Amino acid sequence: TQNLDLLRSSLKLCPNFPKKGITFIDVFGAFANPKAHRALIDLILSRLKKLGTTIDAVVGLEARGFIFGPQIALELQVPFVPVRKLGKLPGKVAKIDYDLEYGKDTMEIQTQVLKPGTKILLVDDLLATGGTLGAAQKLCVDLGCEVVETLVIIELLGLNGRAKLTDVNHFTTLLQFS
Ligand code: 5GP
Repeated sequence: TQNLDLLRSSLKLCPNFPKKGITFIDVFGAFANPKAHRALIDLILSRLKKLGTTIDAVVGLEARGFIFGPQIALELQVPFVPVRKLGKLPGKVAKIDYDLEYGKDTMEIQTQVLKPGTKILLVDDLLATGGTLGAAQKLCVDLGCEVVETLVIIELLGLNGRAKLTDVNHFTTLLQFS
């Protein structure tokens, strides 16, 4: 569709960033253009409407899940809850260790809003190896919540990131790159 084309053309492909041999997809391109920004939000909202899933909270991953996650939460009139790297969130938190391409990391979430049974929409900008989103899903499930949908703007095919997700039947991606 027109919105998808506009969104795709707003994304910048950055060869050899942040390292030689890696082509980084710069999602900020979509936010630098108000028309593409509008298209992105409308696309997400229309996908969610079509799915018809009940959503109690939007959980977004640091850092680019913080840009559009709260906008979706506001439209849905539900809380937005951030997932951040270790040591950034005050108060009661739950944490999970996960594997990176090189080494390990830890992510945390504040538990106050997320009572057991909360139906979560999980969002991030991009699925690559799936390690990040897979861990975030597990973090939510460990709290007794239900991840009813996981949504990314971009899926990098070829890394088979989907295999790391707990539930591929409830995974939405707007654009795919090979
Ligand atoms: P994964 O854990 O799936 O390998 O990596 C996904 C995480 O790395 C996401 O949080 C995403 O923001 C970041 N990431 C990896 N590659 C890219 C890229 O090409 N563009 C952007 N915007 N983010 C990336």
